[in-house]
Amino acid sequence: MKLLLIEDEPQIANLLKAGLEREGYAADWVADGVGGEKRIELYHADYDLVILDLMLPGKDGLEICKSVRAKGITVPILVLTAKSYVDDKVTALDSGADDYLTKPFDFKELLSRIRTLMRRPKEKLTTELRSGGIVLNPVSRKVFLDGKEIKLTLKEFGILEYLMRYPNKVVTRDDVLFNVWDFHFDSFSNVVDVHINHLRKKINNKKRGNFLETIRGVGYRINSTADESAAA
Ligand code: CA
Repeated sequence: MKLLLIEDEPQIANLLKAGLEREGYAADWVADGVGGEKRIELYHADYDLVILDLMLPGKDGLEICKSVRAKGITVPILVLTAKSYVDDKVTALDSGADDYLTKPFDFKELLSRIRTLMRRPKEKLTTELRSGGIVLNPVSRKVFLDGKEIKLTLKEFGILEYLMRYPNKVVTRDDVLFNVWDFHFDSFSNVVDVHINHLRKKINNKKRGNFLETIRGVGYRINSTADESAAA
């Protein structure tokens, strides 16, 4: 799961980003309204949720909300607001936000709101991913191989979830970095390969062939027919 955080106060943003990453979410941070709006417009498909502060330099959060909704962008938006007046909450929801949280808030409360928004009927988020004997549930964050649960680390889970959304397609290392880590991650690092190796040991099975393949010099591929070819 990848989140976009639009918040101009560095202290709050850093705390949120660190907290979210501890929970296994990748989080990108943009500190101004204009840049935030642009990021949503160009990259909304990469994010599962936007956390949007209302009082922002450049462009107000409510304006951003209205303008991206007017463009037909449906990414869930959770508004953070220092204002606690009822009218502002109503305005936020009327502007197309899915939920709001008043500052100061409890981090646990934020996590609970995020989970609720993720559970809302939205095909991309709630559908179990099934391929080659593996079932992955993005909401409960559980993975089963032939009906048995496999324990994955948060990053391994993130990588597998991402790859399983594109079965039988070659996904590059940079794609994985961009979607599972945050926007500024050093792409020269071999961190993806390390996690992929661990993941492969957990999910590849001699009987069914390699479910997670490495395409040398290019990237990785989920082979959804690994079980069928083994059974044949
Ligand atoms: Ca602010």
